[in-house]
Amino acid sequence: MIRLTNVEKVYRTDTVETLALSNINLEIGRGEFVSVMGPSGCGKSTLLNLMGLLDAPTKGEMVIDNTPLQNWSDKKLAQFRNQKLGFIFQSYHLINDLKVLDNVELPLLYRGTSARERKQLSAEALGKVGLSNRMKHFPSQLSGGQKQRVAIARAIVGKPDIILADEPTGNLDSAMGNEIMDILLQLNVKEGTTIIMVTHDEHMANKTHRLLRLFDGAQVQ
Ligand code: ADP
Ligand code: ADP
Repeated sequence: MIRLTNVEKVYRTDTVETLALSNINLEIGRGEFVSVMGPSGCGKSTLLNLMGLLDAPTKGEMVIDNTPLQNWSDKKLAQFRNQKLGFIFQSYHLINDLKVLDNVELPLLYRGTSARERKQLSAEALGKVGLSNRMKHFPSQLSGGQKQRVAIARAIVGKPDIILADEPTGNLDSAMGNEIMDILLQLNVKEGTTIIMVTHDEHMANKTHRLLRLFDGAQVQ
C-alpha cells in the first residue's frame, strides 16, 4: 500500500539545514494499523507529511497504492490526496464558522460531488462516529472528543484507503481518547482502512498492529 525506499528529508533555508529523516525504508500493507512513536523533533510529523503528499522527500522513492509519485504535478498530487487519503490532526482543524455537517462535506466539495450526495454521505459518516444528533451544531458547541469525531467523519466521508492521524488523542482525556481509538480500530477492522497514527501514548500504540519507532530522524524499530 505504501512503500518508502531510502527516503531522506532535509529542510533547507538560507541559513540552516535540518536533516529531519534519513534512510527510511518502510513498507505498510493494505489494512495495517501502524503507530509511530518517538521523542519530540524525531521526524514523526515529517514522515506523516511525506506519506500525506503534503511535502516531498529530498531523496528516495515513495510508492502509494502501486503508484510511484516521482514527477507528479501539484494538481495530480492534490487529486490523489483528496481521493485516497484522509487526515486527522491533534487540534482537529475544523472550520469554526461552518456547521458540523458542512465541515464534514468539505472533501467532497473539492471532488465535485452533487449537493444531495454530499449531504447523504456526510450524514452517513457522522452516523458512523455517533454524532447524528450534532449535524447542525457549530464546532464551538462541541466537546474536544466530539470535535475529533467530526474530524474523523470528515476524514472518512470520501472513503479513503489510507488515514493519516497526527496525535489524534493528544488533546483528549483518557476516556475520550479511548473512544476515538475505538472508532479508529473499528474503521480499520470493518472497512479495512489502512491507518498510520503518530502517538505519544504507549497504551494507544499497543492497540495497533505494529509500532514504528523513530529517533533523531532514523528508524529504530
Ligand atoms: P516530530 O513530529 O517528531 O516532533 P518533526 O517532523 O516536526 O518532528 O520535525 C523533525 C525535525 O525537522 C525537527 O528537528 C524540526 O526542527 C525540523 N523541522 C520540521 N519542520 C521544519 C521546517 N518546516 N523547516 C525546518 N525544519 C523543520
Ligand atoms: P499540532 O501538533 O500543532 O496540533 P497538528 O497535529 O494539528 O499540529 O498538525 C500536524 C502537521 O500537519 C503540522 O506539520 C501541520 O503543519 C500540518 N497541518 C495541519 N493542518 C493541516 C491542513 N489542514 N492541511 C495540511 N497540513 C496541515
